[in-house]
Amino acid sequence: MSAIRSWIRRRSRFRTVPGRLTFWHAGTLAISLGAFATFVLIVRASSLHREFDTDLSARAAALAAEIAPLLDRLDPAAALHEQAAIGALPVMIRHADGRPVFRATAFPPLAGEWELAARQGAVNRLAFQTVRDESREEQRIVNRRFSSPSGVPYVLQLMAHPAGVDQSIHELAAAQAFGLLVVLVIATCVSTLTARRTLAPIEEIIRRGSEIRAHDLGKRLEVEADTVELEQLVRSLNDLLERVEQPVHSAQQFAANVSHELQTPLTAMRFAIESAQRSGRTAERYREIADDLLAEIDRMSTLIRDLRLLALAGARQLVAEPEPFDLGDVLQQCCEIARAVADSKHITIAEDGGPGVIVTGSALHLRRVILNLTDNAILYSPPNSVVSVRMWCEDGVAQITVSDRGCGIAAADVPKIFDAFFRADRARARDTGGSGLGLAIAEQIVRAHHGRITVDSELNEGSIFTVSLPAERTEPGEAPARQVAVSACQPAWSRQ
Ligand code: ADP
Repeated sequence: MSAIRSWIRRRSRFRTVPGRLTFWHAGTLAISLGAFATFVLIVRASSLHREFDTDLSARAAALAAEIAPLLDRLDPAAALHEQAAIGALPVMIRHADGRPVFRATAFPPLAGEWELAARQGAVNRLAFQTVRDESREEQRIVNRRFSSPSGVPYVLQLMAHPAGVDQSIHELAAAQAFGLLVVLVIATCVSTLTARRTLAPIEEIIRRGSEIRAHDLGKRLEVEADTVELEQLVRSLNDLLERVEQPVHSAQQFAANVSHELQTPLTAMRFAIESAQRSGRTAERYREIADDLLAEIDRMSTLIRDLRLLALAGARQLVAEPEPFDLGDVLQQCCEIARAVADSKHITIAEDGGPGVIVTGSALHLRRVILNLTDNAILYSPPNSVVSVRMWCEDGVAQITVSDRGCGIAAADVPKIFDAFFRADRARARDTGGSGLGLAIAEQIVRAHHGRITVDSELNEGSIFTVSLPAERTEPGEAPARQVAVSACQPAWSRQ
């Protein structure tokens, strides 16, 4: 079977689906029809032989009845020879022990050993036997036992050549072979045509698919599929194109945004350098230009650091060596830093939550997430307002919320808030100096910790950012276990 398969694989014609379908279809049909024809041939041949034997046996019985009275004569052989009709038949009369009594001239001499076989057949009471005559042709003999009127037992051997039976069998075999050939030719043609017709849309799909290039991923395969499977194929290929298009589009957008973000500080630096080149600058002015240049270099360094972080997150290498740590401690440190920042705007940081919530991952990265949320909350809140930072742990999930009573985010902007380089209000964002990467990085960090980050916001009312992370609560004074695996306390949603 494997040899057939490798042969089929080698033959290029059988590497096409219609070729293969036709081959298997015609092959299966040929084998089953061939088996059926053989069966019919065997059944028909045995019935023809049976009919032939029955006829021979009936003729022998009639002949025996005719001959029996002649055998009680003094010279039965001479009496039989006088009967011209009997002499013209291939008949032989033997004693019960096989000795010949009479042999008609029409009874042909048999080839060497077959003469003895015919005698043995008569002695052994074989009903029928097949022997070969001198020309090695098959002859059928019926051995009919009978007695003369005086009760002496004899055997009558009547011979016949089964030529009619053989010819009928040959004719039947030839007719079957011809019929089989015609059926196979018709089946092969129909199978090839049907396979080609059925698979024609696949060729169309291949043609259209090969026309789609990287720059026109927005194209879809519009192929008329008339079977459920082809419909599913077209749909799944279109779904695949859609899935590929989105990240490719995002990557292109991302590259455009990166170049734009890098262009801004570079332009500012160029402007500063050009103004320094002009003569007649005081030392004080040079110092100012140098400060501007350093500020722009800082902006660029921060941007490049953030981009590297995003790239690491994309490659799932953000948290290289996860360690268990107390999230409560990290939260306290972040609140201290936030208070220092919030002081100038007279904003109060209301903190609720203490140590004892153990998370496995990177304390440094999660610290960045919380600081980003508190920085934004302070930035977008009016002076003299309150920013609340809360943390609690429930059913293996640590929840951190940072809420403010600031400008809020428009409903249309909420779904885009975690996209890289997104700023809800570009003009205002430029003033604040943010690159729009803060929340995108925060989301990647939280994801790398098998958690999620969500926002609930209303324009001019304020925003609540919630970070959910798999965690464990320890008893007061208990040190975080160093070997806690993230998955050990992972809630169901984080494993998706
Ligand atoms: P940026 O570095 O510009 O602050 P972020 O990714 O941190 O970038 O935030 C993206 C945008 O989301 C901000 O430009 C701002 O428009 C909006 N935003 C984030 N946090 C808040 C908040 N607490 N209140 C109102 N708008 C916010």
